[in-house]
Amino acid sequence: MANKIITKILRKTERIYNKLLLAPIEVFVFHSVSDTYDPSSCLKQDWSSTAAFRQKILELKQQYTFISLPEATSRLQSENLRRKHYAVLTSDDGFKTVLTVLPFLTEQNIPITLFLNPQYLDGTTIRPDYAPQPQYLTHADLAQITSPLVTIGMHGYQHLDCAAQTPSDFRQNVSACIDALGAHPRYIPYFAYPWGNHTPSTQQTLRDMCITPVLCDGRSNHRYSDGISRRCIDTTR
Ligand SMILES: [Zn+2]
Repeated sequence: MANKIITKILRKTERIYNKLLLAPIEVFVFHSVSDTYDPSSCLKQDWSSTAAFRQKILELKQQYTFISLPEATSRLQSENLRRKHYAVLTSDDGFKTVLTVLPFLTEQNIPITLFLNPQYLDGTTIRPDYAPQPQYLTHADLAQITSPLVTIGMHGYQHLDCAAQTPSDFRQNVSACIDALGAHPRYIPYFAYPWGNHTPSTQQTLRDMCITPVLCDGRSNHRYSDGISRRCIDTTR
């Protein structure tokens, strides 16, 4: 009983401390951005119009200083005091449309991490739930991405539910991602779980492989604990 009360007091104290002295780092994720919506390329909730995306980014830039994912991780691991409001931009699934917003992001000096599924980089594979390839980045596209503002992370070799994989299948999945992406000059050892689905076992595997897990739990980040929390960018308001 006493332990429970102490834990409750400690949690409350931490919440107050975080609120007053440790500004959260927000990590945003988006998917496809294009001028018009193509239902064969992605789900409506994963799409944003180019105009709305640009406007949202400019709005966020008024509120936050954008930093890279590795810088955010390092700040979350080491800082005990944070007044400035930082944000990180990430994009999942490797939609080819991301190429059209990279010049705008570069112009705004905003770093971005692209989480990719190497299986779909070959330009021919058909992703079962969506349209055929041209919609996705290819090896050739990836080779052209050399900007120091862009980093490349893993999103599973295929877009599978990692929580449903056996520990050995998940480890193979991650190893295959490293084999495909590890040599890219902008590669960083970060793994964004598809749909955010993970288990204590997948978390342990990533820890063993010195890879930082990236979640999709809608939370803000005050300190680093078991991964980087993210929220979807909302371009509807
Ligand atoms: Zn995804």
